[in-house]
Amino acid sequence: MLKLQNYINGKLVAPQNKQYIDNYNPATGAVYSLIPKSNKKDLEKAVEAAENAFLSWKNTPQEDRSNILLRIADLIEKDLHSLASAESFDNGKPVSLATKMDIPRAAQNFRFYATAALHNHTNTYQTDENILNYTLREPLGVVGCISPWNLPLYLFTWKIAPALASGNCVIAKPSEITPYTAFLLSKICIKAGLPAGVLNIVHGLGSEIGAEIVAHPQIKAISFTGGTQTGANIARVAAPMFKKLSLELGGKNPTIIFADADYQKALTGAVKAAFTNQGQICLCGSRIFIEKIIYEKFKKDFVEEVKKLIPASPASVNTNFGAVVSKEHLEKIISYVEIAKSEGGKILCGGTQTHPKGFENGYFFQPTVIEGLAYDCRTNQEEIFGAIATIQPFETEEEVLKYANSVRYGLSASLWTENNSRVQRMSKGLASGIVWVNCWLIRDLRTPFGGVKDSGMGREGGFEALNFFTEEKNICIYSTNV
Ligand code: NDP
Repeated sequence: MLKLQNYINGKLVAPQNKQYIDNYNPATGAVYSLIPKSNKKDLEKAVEAAENAFLSWKNTPQEDRSNILLRIADLIEKDLHSLASAESFDNGKPVSLATKMDIPRAAQNFRFYATAALHNHTNTYQTDENILNYTLREPLGVVGCISPWNLPLYLFTWKIAPALASGNCVIAKPSEITPYTAFLLSKICIKAGLPAGVLNIVHGLGSEIGAEIVAHPQIKAISFTGGTQTGANIARVAAPMFKKLSLELGGKNPTIIFADADYQKALTGAVKAAFTNQGQICLCGSRIFIEKIIYEKFKKDFVEEVKKLIPASPASVNTNFGAVVSKEHLEKIISYVEIAKSEGGKILCGGTQTHPKGFENGYFFQPTVIEGLAYDCRTNQEEIFGAIATIQPFETEEEVLKYANSVRYGLSASLWTENNSRVQRMSKGLASGIVWVNCWLIRDLRTPFGGVKDSGMGREGGFEALNFFTEEKNICIYSTNV
């Protein structure tokens, strides 16, 4: 059986305790590899390696650092198909999605930050004739990056790339549920000539090695993407240690469709927003609000479109709907169908586990649409994070804003209308970090990314991430005889 290894001090190594965790293929339900169950001892080795590498990496000319990161991007692109297959196998997502989205984006993350760092700048302030202030941005040292299972390599590299580009050394942990492409990235980094210790990848359980990373005194910052509860636990440990924290957390996002929208585009967009990656994207629009005068027609067309998403082998290029990530997650999703029913919801399609031919033991769930629920019931308030969308009618902007903003989360919103004044009013009124108008999931890596309320703290993307991974220092020079 394939045994994944940690990547510490430039080498692939076994965990010191020789203990491993089973890694499942969600499409078959079978264990296909073992991953290190790392502990504090592995972390100490990783931190030691990172500390030893730091001065040299920090002092490496920016252009040389960038070139190494660009080589990593090139190698990811070169391995596109094998990485996409690995991601699909490990996560259950359709290989077509991994090929189109996850892996290209992982390469873009490295390419973007390799070049963004070349264009970063600091400030000067001429206070008066004799006094000049200028600022320096210095890397923090050793930093921690912890990422979730839904977009494994995509989000892992989204954190690592800016941290490395700005001169930090990194201890990174992928989700134990989807560790495979992070392991393959270790091999790519070795091939690209990344100096030993600059990036260290430790595998294992969030509650064990993840918690150790957060609590380690030499790790100066934590960039975390994952659930809101985990984010709160991390903040509880890291805040009193005065670590810098970036928390990208859960979402329960609204899709709002007005009668004046381009109907066909709104329909296609709403399906995509609700069900891409089996609904397992923090940005998915799982609460769909439709203006009352088009509600019945939209409902019928929406359900018809959703029925075209057929759970099937993730490895087949024609598959448009894969497996959900794990047995536990499948059970959680199913439990929400029961909750929705008990709250008066009517299941319009889906609602059950399914067993595609040849995948009888896999974790497949029918894409599900539910109507008839109150905006403030549990199904509409709690993050399910998979393959369930609710639809509800509304009559006025005020009403739909009340519904949309009623949740504890505030990550993204998607708005469909051709009325520009409405766009401006609604965009101001929506409590979320991102508002997509007549689109969904268009990402320009220069834009700030993050949520409000319980969706997190801080912004990633663009120079925000480079700033997060650096500390600004002010230098004030007083000169006589100027
Ligand atoms: P979790 O919060 O369970 O886990 C995220 C990561 O944190 C994993 O690597 C996990 O390890 C690790 N972890 C778990 N407990 C701890 C701990 N105490 N200390 C340190 N690390 C820990 O989230 P999921 O992986 O289940 O991901 C789904 C969640 O992520 C959803 O809520 C989703 O909305 C959110 N998300 C947010 C995004 C955003 O940008 N705002 C983007 C994508 C997802 P392990 O898996 O090994 O337990």
